[in-house]
Amino acid sequence: MEQLVETLSIDLEQERKDILKKYRRLLRTAKPFLKDNDAKLIKKAFYTSVEAHKDMRRRSGEPYIYHPLAVAQIVVEEIGLGTTGIVSALLHDVVEDTDMRIEDIDRLFGKKVAKIIDGLTKISGRFEYGTSQQAENFRKMLLTLSDDVRVILVKLADRLHNMRTLDSMPRDKQLKIASETIFIYAPLAHRLGLYSIKSELEELYLKYTEPQEYRAISRKLRETKSSRDRFISKFTEPIAEDLEKAGLNYIIKGRPKSIYSIWNKMRKQNKPFEEIYDLFAIRIVLESPQEGDREKALCWQAYSIVTDHYKPNPDRLKDFLSTPRANGYQSLHSTVMSKSGQWVEVQIRTSRMDEIAEKGYAAHWKYKGNDTKVRGNIEQWISQVRETLETGSGDKTAAIEFLDEFRTNLFNEEVFVFTPKGELKVLQSGATALDFAFDIHSEVGVHCMAAKVGGVLVPISYVLSNGDQIEIITSNKQKPTEDWLRVVRTSKARARIKDFLKEDNRHYETDGRQMVERKLKVLGIELTAEVVNQLRAFFECKTAADFFYKIGKGYVQLDELKRFKRDKEAKERKAVTAVIVPPVEGADGKSYTKLLKNLHGDRADSDTLLIGDDMDKIDYKLAPCCNPIAGDDVFGFVTINEGIKIHRTTCPNAAELMSKHGNRIIKAKWESNKDEAFLAGLYISGTDRVGLINDVTRIISNELHINMRGLTIDTKDGVFNGDIRLYVQDTRHLDILISKLEQVEGVYNVQRFDTNLTGSV
Ligand code: MN
Repeated sequence: MEQLVETLSIDLEQERKDILKKYRRLLRTAKPFLKDNDAKLIKKAFYTSVEAHKDMRRRSGEPYIYHPLAVAQIVVEEIGLGTTGIVSALLHDVVEDTDMRIEDIDRLFGKKVAKIIDGLTKISGRFEYGTSQQAENFRKMLLTLSDDVRVILVKLADRLHNMRTLDSMPRDKQLKIASETIFIYAPLAHRLGLYSIKSELEELYLKYTEPQEYRAISRKLRETKSSRDRFISKFTEPIAEDLEKAGLNYIIKGRPKSIYSIWNKMRKQNKPFEEIYDLFAIRIVLESPQEGDREKALCWQAYSIVTDHYKPNPDRLKDFLSTPRANGYQSLHSTVMSKSGQWVEVQIRTSRMDEIAEKGYAAHWKYKGNDTKVRGNIEQWISQVRETLETGSGDKTAAIEFLDEFRTNLFNEEVFVFTPKGELKVLQSGATALDFAFDIHSEVGVHCMAAKVGGVLVPISYVLSNGDQIEIITSNKQKPTEDWLRVVRTSKARARIKDFLKEDNRHYETDGRQMVERKLKVLGIELTAEVVNQLRAFFECKTAADFFYKIGKGYVQLDELKRFKRDKEAKERKAVTAVIVPPVEGADGKSYTKLLKNLHGDRADSDTLLIGDDMDKIDYKLAPCCNPIAGDDVFGFVTINEGIKIHRTTCPNAAELMSKHGNRIIKAKWESNKDEAFLAGLYISGTDRVGLINDVTRIISNELHINMRGLTIDTKDGVFNGDIRLYVQDTRHLDILISKLEQVEGVYNVQRFDTNLTGSV
């Protein structure tokens, strides 16, 4: 993101002073947390980073070290991390941007720091193209949660500083970084409970993407400030008086809502600024001498004082005191009616809760001695995320799908329910009894029949309400169906059901294949690869597997194979006829063999379609039945509605097309200098070993720089079978890849396949 800039006239002495000043400020902030050797370690990290980045400058022209220093400052001051976090922040760009290697970090700072830096380097924005890469990156980032949550926290600090210094970036980069921030980082900060960081990221996002609206809203906020302040002080006056009388230590703030949330509201409700009423919330922060039940009592006492003066809306009372949000947030929220007839949100919490709400996760560690429950929640969340991630496959579309689901989960509020033994489970709001069953255990999930809520029998689609106590009823005969996917809300349950259905389908597929094989034998047909393809086409299935599945399931009756036989025989008779007798209706009267011979001619004469070259002028498409790529032997087929389709001469449909519609065939050749990528598929098989998939993907993306679209690998009893879909330039390119892959230890067969490239994996 940053780059080297030629230095013109820079006061190096002044810069050196500035760097030291920033460093001393960092040490001062960190001081209360430091023990034993901590200061020494930070100093070492600081000098290592200074040395490593010494010749680098940020795009703004500043010395590069300003950036790691600022990130470290955020890490300690705004997130509250200790020495390991500070050291990691100081070194976070060293491996990616300088000559230092991860081994050097390990040697100098130990395993823990090295692991964090490694995680940070891996998730850094190396891939710039397309959302799928971003999604995959994000998935990688969350995977590192399993190692150390500090990776994410330092990454957030890094992103925050980059957003704060976005001014020096060109416009396109600003937009890219800002949208990534709103899409991924702000929700993540929210989920980790880093409220103020989340708000700042959102604010900066708006500032760079909608600068005019941002300025307009902030101007209007300023203009209305004094009347708002008058309202707030009038509203809080009687409350403050009574809090005083009750002898409570408190602070009352009228907190304006963020510009981003106001903008969001205006957009969602399609209203001008003037009609948005809840521009602020009242927050009462109470000083509590000790932690625990006393805190809760204090908050309720304050609540009772507020409602002595203002009538509360019973539907809007939220008690996050007794059941904190999964990110640890605790507070009492209520909406009350002011004297002037306006609803006002009031939040009541203690100063400890307030700090947790602002600093989130990191603040928990400060209080960790007494707050195992909150910490437990965070750990529960992290393990949930990990589980979801581990069930996802490595393929790109899966990464995007995952990201969507993850984001949905981020924004949903939770529902709190209980097991029969009284154990609390937190699920996303809208979750059903079936989700609950899967949350308990996959085995309970897949055999779930119904549930009992408070002793009453309910179906699996029952939507959970807060406080429900649920007993799951299971049966060994029960198993998931496609319909279940519509019943569940959580990504965990969905992933498990999908896994199960996949397994289940495979079994129908093998059954189907055996049934077909037996039946065809009776009919005197052998099940060769060619016949499989003919069957697929005849029964209009996307893949052969699909066809066998339909047979196995009984969607296609075995008896229909007789019809297939008749059709096949008729076609074979026709094909033979076509070769011998020129078709009468064929305008040019060419026979199939002549046609084919002609197509193979090397000369590109005037009536040859040049693929690539003629692209802009002529409407042609690559046929999905054989997916030609540049370099393949091909011909064009003039269709009735879809322009010209390019087929390979080896296409399973080629014979039929040429023999039936010889007059619609045209010659086609590839124009070689076009820079285009073609989707191709490879089957790969061999014996399984650790690291094999890594080796395969390394060749594809690192060595040959080929973009993968999808990868599925199935391993069974030490043998693996995979299919890879990727974009290649031409057949030569594909041949190089195939021969490279064949050299990988364990791989014994790599083969191109043609059909169903665009279908789901
Ligand atoms: Mn950075």
